[in-house]
Amino acid sequence: CGIVGYIGPKKASEILIDGLAKLEYRGYDSAGIAMLENGKVIMEKKEGRLSKLADIVKSKYDANIGIGHTRWATHGKPSDENSHPHFDCSKKIAVVHNGIIENFHQLKEELKEDGHQFDSETDTEVIPHLIEEYYNGDMLEALQKTIKRLDGSYALVVINQDKPEEIFCARKDSPLVIGVGQGENFVASDIPAIIQHTKETIILDDGEIAKITKDAVEIMDLPGNNVEKEILKVDWDA
Ligand code: GLU
Repeated sequence: CGIVGYIGPKKASEILIDGLAKLEYRGYDSAGIAMLENGKVIMEKKEGRLSKLADIVKSKYDANIGIGHTRWATHGKPSDENSHPHFDCSKKIAVVHNGIIENFHQLKEELKEDGHQFDSETDTEVIPHLIEEYYNGDMLEALQKTIKRLDGSYALVVINQDKPEEIFCARKDSPLVIGVGQGENFVASDIPAIIQHTKETIILDDGEIAKITKDAVEIMDLPGNNVEKEILKVDWDA
């Protein structure tokens, strides 16, 4: 239901929890974050209030890159296991997702036949496994191949342990906005999550895929062409 991502010099955990809190008004049943610290993915997720997650995470991590999610369950009951982020088999690729993957059942059967094991009942979990299947060193290509397989709606934000200085995202029929900062960048499902940090935004359109580093935002369309996007200034205050 709510998504926040951060890369930059600050403590990601604080920015993620704070951003998710700004999206709490939308409603949710669980919350989670994944970050990259010392070359490893770390993850905390919990059914229930965001404050429960905040207590667990509090000043525990120094990571400077991460993604966060508040879930409103559509497939799979609210539980710790079904909370986002979700992982691939190698536990290197972490994904948060808003929306519904309509064809997840077929994809899950196909992936299981290829040896993938699943930890949750969600539609979302097919996404990290598809990325794992298609990943060959190039995350944009893997994401492009993955979203071609997905029917339904999605705002996706992804980190990969092999790419410790990059965040990837994509969307279709579910909003995603990139916040452009100075030496730091943000991504969120809605502006209130990031407006206290920056007012410069890029609205991602359907079919677009983005790579976000602390200093740059690179966007391409579904066929793989680079897209120049306008930076829009939000003219209201936090
Ligand atoms: N369909 C996904 C799930 O049930 C995402 C729900 C959401 O948008 O929060 O886990």
